[in-house]
Amino acid sequence: MVDIPISNDAPGGVGAELLADHMERPALDTRKYRVVKLPNQLEALLIHDEDTDKASASLDVNVGSFSDKDDMPGIAHAVEHLLFMGTEKYPKENAYNQYLTAHSGSSNAFTASTETVYYFEVAASNTPNNKKTEAPLYGALDRFAQFFVAPLFLEETLDRELKAVDSENKKNLQNDTWRLHQLNKTLSNPKHPYHHFSTGSYKTLHDEPLKRGVKIRDEFIHFYDTHYSANRMKLVVLGRESLDELQNWVEELFSEVKNKDLPRNRWDDISPYTDNELGTMVFAKPVYEMRLLDLYFPYPDEELLYESQPSRYIGHLLGHEGPGSILAYTKAKGWANALGAGPVNPCPGSAFFSVSIRLTEEGLKHYQEILKVLFQYISLLREQPPQAWVFEEMKTMAQVNFRFRQKTPASKTTNGLSQIMQKPYPRDWLLSGPSLLRKFDPDAITKGLSYLRPDNFRITIVSQDYPGDWDQKEKWYGTQYKVDQIPSDTLKSLQEAYASTPASRPAELHLPEKNDFIPSRLEVEKKDVDEPLVAPKLIRNDDSVRTWWKKDDQFWVPKAFLHITLRTPIPHITPRCAVIAQMYGELVQDELNEYSYAAEIAGLEYSLSTRSVGIDLSIAGYNDKMHVLLDKVLLCMRDLNVREDRFNINKERLQRNYRNWEFQQPYQQVNSFTRWLNSERGWTNEEYAAELPHVTADDVRTFKPQMLQQCHIELLAHGNLYKEDALNFTKLVERTLRPRTLPPSQWPVRRSLIFPPGCNYVYERTLRDPANINHCIEYTLYIGQTTDRALCARLLLFSQCTDEPAFNVLRTNEQLGYVVFSGTSVNNTWMGYRILVQSEKNPEFLEQRIDAFLEGFGKTLVEMTEAQFEKLKISLITRRLEKLKNLGQEMVRFAGHIISERYDFEQVDHDVANLQPLTLADIRAFYDHYIAPTSPHRSKLSVHLLAQSSPAAIAETMSDEEQSAKLFDAMSKFVTAHGITPNLEKLASRFNDVDVKHGDKPAIVAAVRSYLSQDERVVEPKLTEIVTQGEALLSTVLPSLGIEPAPTEAEKAAMQDAEKKMVHGDAKEADERGHVPVQGNGTVPVKIVDVHAWKAERTVAPGARAVKDLSEFEEGAAKL
Ligand SMILES: [Zn+2]
Repeated sequence: MVDIPISNDAPGGVGAELLADHMERPALDTRKYRVVKLPNQLEALLIHDEDTDKASASLDVNVGSFSDKDDMPGIAHAVEHLLFMGTEKYPKENAYNQYLTAHSGSSNAFTASTETVYYFEVAASNTPNNKKTEAPLYGALDRFAQFFVAPLFLEETLDRELKAVDSENKKNLQNDTWRLHQLNKTLSNPKHPYHHFSTGSYKTLHDEPLKRGVKIRDEFIHFYDTHYSANRMKLVVLGRESLDELQNWVEELFSEVKNKDLPRNRWDDISPYTDNELGTMVFAKPVYEMRLLDLYFPYPDEELLYESQPSRYIGHLLGHEGPGSILAYTKAKGWANALGAGPVNPCPGSAFFSVSIRLTEEGLKHYQEILKVLFQYISLLREQPPQAWVFEEMKTMAQVNFRFRQKTPASKTTNGLSQIMQKPYPRDWLLSGPSLLRKFDPDAITKGLSYLRPDNFRITIVSQDYPGDWDQKEKWYGTQYKVDQIPSDTLKSLQEAYASTPASRPAELHLPEKNDFIPSRLEVEKKDVDEPLVAPKLIRNDDSVRTWWKKDDQFWVPKAFLHITLRTPIPHITPRCAVIAQMYGELVQDELNEYSYAAEIAGLEYSLSTRSVGIDLSIAGYNDKMHVLLDKVLLCMRDLNVREDRFNINKERLQRNYRNWEFQQPYQQVNSFTRWLNSERGWTNEEYAAELPHVTADDVRTFKPQMLQQCHIELLAHGNLYKEDALNFTKLVERTLRPRTLPPSQWPVRRSLIFPPGCNYVYERTLRDPANINHCIEYTLYIGQTTDRALCARLLLFSQCTDEPAFNVLRTNEQLGYVVFSGTSVNNTWMGYRILVQSEKNPEFLEQRIDAFLEGFGKTLVEMTEAQFEKLKISLITRRLEKLKNLGQEMVRFAGHIISERYDFEQVDHDVANLQPLTLADIRAFYDHYIAPTSPHRSKLSVHLLAQSSPAAIAETMSDEEQSAKLFDAMSKFVTAHGITPNLEKLASRFNDVDVKHGDKPAIVAAVRSYLSQDERVVEPKLTEIVTQGEALLSTVLPSLGIEPAPTEAEKAAMQDAEKKMVHGDAKEADERGHVPVQGNGTVPVKIVDVHAWKAERTVAPGARAVKDLSEFEEGAAKL
């Protein structure tokens, strides 16, 4: 039962009820909290944070895809999209986002199974109450609240947003996480809403309902009316204003939300798994190369057991990675690479417990034995009572982590808390409820464990080549799969394992040892400082070592961060060297895994990686035992014994990673090609993948000393550490690795290429995934070197100006695709402006649309007023000056400046100083010179990633007659949906002269129109209404029949233009051809064919170097 601590009226106007006026909170949390319930039953958590630079709000509605109608999957998600599009009070569809952009803000939303969450953040301010309308938070809240009071579901935005949903779904189609998750759902109890498909598509939300004669907009409004109710809403508002003031605003703006007294959404008497699903094994074929063994056990929902959290205890032991664990044992056998275990809660009332194991090739062959090991371990847990000391360790770490939890950014805070508010925690435990463990409840653990039985689970095996005879296709994502019963002899052996005794089970399985990494020294020496230092101090700088150090002076947590670079050119001489270096890193981590796991659960983690200037080792977490872990990692790096069996397993995994890389979403791949092209030295994933098969264990053995015997050490120690600690860490590195000095003359220099004015390069590449239908373009304009601070400021501000318009034009209006980014792009010393679009439209067309957008933006700049410009500028400056929220963010900043080798710790101040004087005229001039497609000075590089699959590929599986018949069928169903019984003969005769094969959309539309008007006597305005809907329907029906809709006249002209401009051949040949008189700046796009030759012709920029003499950072130097 919910224990509500206090209940009396809080100060305020409408008689809100006070639910809590304090919170159990972390030691360093200085925010103030209050929970109230408005008379309409809407619950709000108010947070006053006087230091915050961002204000934020989040609202969680207790309704999600589990409430979708069976025949309209995705409707909850579509309603989430449409809610943004205009309200009675603010009818302009992008009023909300424009307001946020003008006030350094942004917004987002998502739909989960029983929740839909909307949130935003915006600049914080201290505005007196009589001027509240000037406060960005008040203005944003006002617009936000209207979504829940009077949304318009504007008809004209409907189709576009459904296409956005469709594009979102298409983005997920080749993603294994989505595919496997949906397969699991599709194969669950059809009566449980877990079975639903939740994203939705144009087909489920538009075409099919339309065919049934459903008025879709009415359905969305109906869904909203049925499920959105004030008593289901949890609101969190965070701002600099006082709690009373925040409460006043919430009361004023949210009291109008209608309360329909709807019950909390939960599913109690129905399980996602019934006897039909249990005892089965599902075999699924993934897109990525991977091997997984997943188990699902029906398990009770423990939402009321938050004080003891029994499944957390069980997950801790089953998922342990230290000595004695399931993973350690199966890893030693060469069967598994990773293992995770824990509860999954699809909705209140339903849960299951899952165990997921990543298998090696050998592991797949031995999966039945792995299952046995799992049940043997469960029997080990069952034969002794739950262990209080294990729980105590977990409880201690939970307490330490909660006590020293640091501030998270405003929107992350509000968004997380609004979700927690939907759960039955006492209202003063909203911060601590999910984190703290309070009560050891052995009976509850024993009960939880009793669900993990061989007669109560289902298995999924994921592999690209086993068993090979998948005979079914999942409906929504097309995942190939097959379902079998678990064979009875397997079940029998699992029953035996489940009943095993210490004598009959491997002695290697046992409970974990006591964890020595749990920190005990948690003191922090807090000193008052006027201003936190913006840079670490350079406390040692000699031939072999550079040590940077900063004692934390603002966050006061017992944590620290170490970043060590072993500078050497060796790992980056050739792709082969890079691959061997990477294998070395993998093997060190593999060797340390059992040991470092204990540190990891005690909040201390390390990572090891290689990059172009050497090897990076970093350690982060509680500083108490940091030296112990560092010592161990360094020893392992030095003494690594390369074992043949571990080498093979890790090599196979790395090989798979290289192959899988090419199956990522195109937008995730494209930037690495741009970076490759603008770096003097660098290689592609493909080149690494080609080297790995030729690397042997011996190569790693020989290579290791080459890498480590000569290098320069650069170390950053930051956090709860004294100078002595930093120097001792440095000595430990030197003493253990004993590298010879690497003179600065031999340090690697990272350089970028300079693109000449007027250049127009295109690099094309076909994507590997045969089933992927999305193309991608990254269109980059080279601006200059990062050392040019004034230019950098112009670029930043220009990017801020195009941020909202680029998204609005390319994604919202033109519907090019779900993924659209714009902004600055930096690599080494190179800076540029880029636009990225992932789309079903081909890159040449996208290129033309981006040109058109940039051209149009010139007009926007001309029309922009000084007042609008100042707002954007202030918004950007506010963003740049945002305070660091925690030690981690400061660490990222410091490490970034060291890794960039520019040591530009005061960059923010320089940026702001350069931004301040900029005028609208400056930005117009910047645009005219660097951006405008007509400018002879601009330098462009586009990377085009081409999809293999397309409507044409589908067409190959269908004859012309089949295509025509299917199209005709779709049209007659469509007509029926509008209440007209079609005269098939007459309709068919109208199609006589239509060129279906070539997707002549206007002709198809005209045929339908003349049929309706002349044969059926349909009159205006109904005629146009039906025809318009039919036209929209065609854009999805045609591709599904393998017909690429012929472009409209405008599209045709654009593409011909692009085609004309595209010159094939290498750079030299094209340059000599001179100008072809086309629009734009008249440059000729040059396809980069021979990358080596192309790079050889470019000029190289100065390498990265320090912005000032490093001695200025030494102690005793003049104040920074
Ligand atoms: Zn969405």
